Amino acid sequence: MLMEFDYYAPDSIEDASKLLKKYENSKFLAGGTDLLVNMKKGKVRPDVVIDIKKIKGLNEIKEVYGYVSIGALVTFNQLIESEIIKTRYPVLWECAKVMGCYEIRNRATIGGNIVNASPGSESGSPLFVLEAEVKVRSDEGERKLKINEFVKGVGKTDLKRGEILTEILIPVYPENTKSTYFRGSRVRGMDLASLNLAMLILNPESDEKREIRIAAGAVYITPLRLKEIEDMLSHTKLTTELIEKVKRKVPQLIQPRATSLRATPEYKKVMVGNFIEMGLEKLLNLRFY
Ligand SMILES: Cc1cc2nc3c(=O)[nH]c(=O)nc-3n(C[C@H](O)[C@H](O)[C@H](O)COP(=O)(O)OP(=O)(O)OC[C@H]3O[C@@H](n4cnc5c(N)ncnc54)[C@H](O)[C@@H]3O)c2cc1C
Repeated sequence: MLMEFDYYAPDSIEDASKLLKKYENSKFLAGGTDLLVNMKKGKVRPDVVIDIKKIKGLNEIKEVYGYVSIGALVTFNQLIESEIIKTRYPVLWECAKVMGCYEIRNRATIGGNIVNASPGSESGSPLFVLEAEVKVRSDEGERKLKINEFVKGVGKTDLKRGEILTEILIPVYPENTKSTYFRGSRVRGMDLASLNLAMLILNPESDEKREIRIAAGAVYITPLRLKEIEDMLSHTKLTTELIEKVKRKVPQLIQPRATSLRATPEYKKVMVGNFIEMGLEKLLNLRFY
């Protein structure tokens, strides 16, 4: 059962922002797939719910100069249906495909996924390797932040009281850029990811110029860029020996939560290395034996 609360559905960012500031114990509502579940469980008990879905212009995917802009209210099914996302950002498209189930993807927004800030959130590691930026707005103005500066910890972001996440900006990468996404889960059907991994490769054809970006989810308090591994793998020839070295290094770089119900730290330490190998094999058509 949901507790009683007052409900507002403003049609502008300014009004939504003012309402959130006016009512101390209030929450924004987007798709509701996190918020309403948490309210039903009694984990959050807002007196006022401010539905932001009536605000226009926040549910579009469009190309702006040098970037693709994704409105915060864009749902995961919209990401899947978008030709721009499918062709330019396979890593984001693939994560959307495996997120939840059709009904959840129909309501769940990318903005809600980011603000909920779960370490294993589906969009987290893809947005980290894509080096996305986010725009936040309130009645007082607008700020732009890098995604890794915005996401601060488990359930924590840099949002100030009254600010709404409005837009996600992803740089347009050269056409030969490759990317992919892997996730582990306990069951084949719908389940939250036990861990996930996003990989993006710039200049894939050249050993010298190749730049590899890797981020893992559910192995730290936020999605985690594995910079040391990126340095080991970028601008060099990829050999079986190097991959083995990378797999031995991974456990030193991640800090999976020991109390996770979905997977043990030992499992995650092995799987991150395996996903890295799988990503390189898939994107570069290599085989490591
Ligand atoms: C059955 C089920 C399966 C799921 N499977 C997955 C899964 O596989 N992978 C996964 O990552 N998640 C999963 N989730 C979690 C959830 O669906 C996602 O995190 C979703 O993207 C949240 O988006 P939402 O629009 O529903 O957010 P809401 O529930 O509306 O909001 C979540 C939080 O973000 C705040 N918020 C939302 N939008 C904004 C905004 N624009 N600006 C400021 N604050 C905002 C809200 O106040 C609230 O605190 C699942 C949930 C359920 C119930």
